[in-house]
Amino acid sequence: MNVEVILKAKGADVTTITSSETLGAAVELLHKKKIGAIVVVDAGRVCGILSERDIVKALAAAGAEALDLPIAQVMTANVVSCKLSDTIDQLMGAMTGGRFRHIPVIEDDELIGIISIGDAVKHRIAETEMEAEQLRLYIATG
Ligand code: AMP
Repeated sequence: MNVEVILKAKGADVTTITSSETLGAAVELLHKKKIGAIVVVDAGRVCGILSERDIVKALAAAGAEALDLPIAQVMTANVVSCKLSDTIDQLMGAMTGGRFRHIPVIEDDELIGIISIGDAVKHRIAETEMEAEQLRLYIATG
């Protein structure tokens, strides 16, 4: 199973924000959309990712004033992305190795989706169950 299959099931909707907007605006968006990370896009290009962890870190360092900071000062600029052809195992490896839970999907410089660790685990479990069922059938029918 690969990223293309996951995106077909969950859709291509990605919440984005620009790097000059404030952390407060990002907090409102995360809450409204019930998500854990926002992809930062300037002039049509992915330039960062901001997750709830970054916001907690900024609040711990600067207190409530952090909410007025521009996202550019708080986001992670080196974004690890994936392609439609990447496998779930590759994604899970990247997430485990990089200690993050979100990976934007980028094809030809265009942002076309986002995969969370929840999406990856859900599809990995479905895949494992399918394999187990096939084995059961194979054993039962000889
Ligand atoms: P998360 O586990 O996604 O909440 O993110 C944990 C930390 O990793 C935060 O500092 C994020 O900005 C960063 N992060 C999240 N996703 C990515 C990614 N795809 N590439 C690089 N850094 C990321």
